[in-house]
Amino acid sequence: MAHGTASTRTDRAITVRELLASGKQSYSFEFYAPKTPKGERTLWDAVRRIEAVGPTFVSVTYGAGGSSREGTVRATERIATDTTLTPVAHLTAVNHSVAELRNIIGQYADAGIRNVFAVRGDPPGDPMGEWIAHPQGVTYAAELVSLIKESGDFCVGVAAFTNMHPRSVDWDSDIRHFVDKCRAGADYAITQMFWHPEDYLRLRDRVAKAGCETPIIPEIMPVTNVGQIEKFAQLSNEEFPQDLADRILAVRDDKAAVRSLGIEYATELSARLLAEGIPGLHFITLNHSTATLEIYQNLGLQQRSGQPA
Ligand code: FAD
Repeated sequence: MAHGTASTRTDRAITVRELLASGKQSYSFEFYAPKTPKGERTLWDAVRRIEAVGPTFVSVTYGAGGSSREGTVRATERIATDTTLTPVAHLTAVNHSVAELRNIIGQYADAGIRNVFAVRGDPPGDPMGEWIAHPQGVTYAAELVSLIKESGDFCVGVAAFTNMHPRSVDWDSDIRHFVDKCRAGADYAITQMFWHPEDYLRLRDRVAKAGCETPIIPEIMPVTNVGQIEKFAQLSNEEFPQDLADRILAVRDDKAAVRSLGIEYATELSARLLAEGIPGLHFITLNHSTATLEIYQNLGLQQRSGQPA
């Protein structure tokens, strides 16, 4: 299917670049594209609750292995047309030729999406398995950034890693490749989840030392159940904090107590980061608004924006 050039409906939408340039700290929330009617209802319940607090932007991920292509386009388009929110659509290079990537970028443009988050993606099945680029595709996220930028007036975000990308061999190359994405045109970055503010600050210093001023937004993901201890350690590429694990395991049979410890930890991490003058916070919702909105409320942000949840 042919799509209009990327400028078709993008003229009206504000970009994350412009929102960050306002100088106000940004507060954003991330969703994933649902696969079932029940999941769709859960997502929209969360979207509406988050819309009520007036976030800076919201984003919708692109399923691992390119599995949620239609769902991501549909969800971001509906957010653009049916809500007051600024949506960001993720895109990965997994299993896509350049022609297919151009087609999806065209679909985003046709849907009025002007903000795209460009990540390479991981191999389907085993995220640490061998990465094999599509024969007519791209190999690294920097190439995807260039492709999106060439396709129209898009604002592009990229991924950052406070403890290096798991495939990186050393800090020098990790930072160099991150800076390559920024030089390819990335307007801002969002980190993978992490546990200690010092890790974020070290990354920020390393990137600044490399002469790169691209704003880096920390990602915040509260632990809300015991099963996430192992999963989050894999996601953050570092050991789960032992003190938090001990406290959670001590109340493992009390779901509400586990959840409240996770929210308390994420609130403290967020507060320490905000005090360091970060450009903003990006909350992972897993399509449930309540835990992230509690953190938002604990930080006194509703009072700041003057909008009740
Ligand atoms: P790249 O920047 O391409 O880096 C991958 C590795 O290659 C790094 O080690 C890098 O140092 C190295 N490298 C880069 N350039 C070169 C070069 N020229 N030569 C040699 N080595 C190089 N995944 C999804 O599937 N869907 C999503 O929606 C999604 N959203 C995400 C959102 C955030 C905020 C984050 C942090 C991650 C997200 N991911 C998502 C996960 C992401 O796809 C994986 O972490 C992936 O492994 C890395 O993507 P990247 O864009 O950082 O890759």
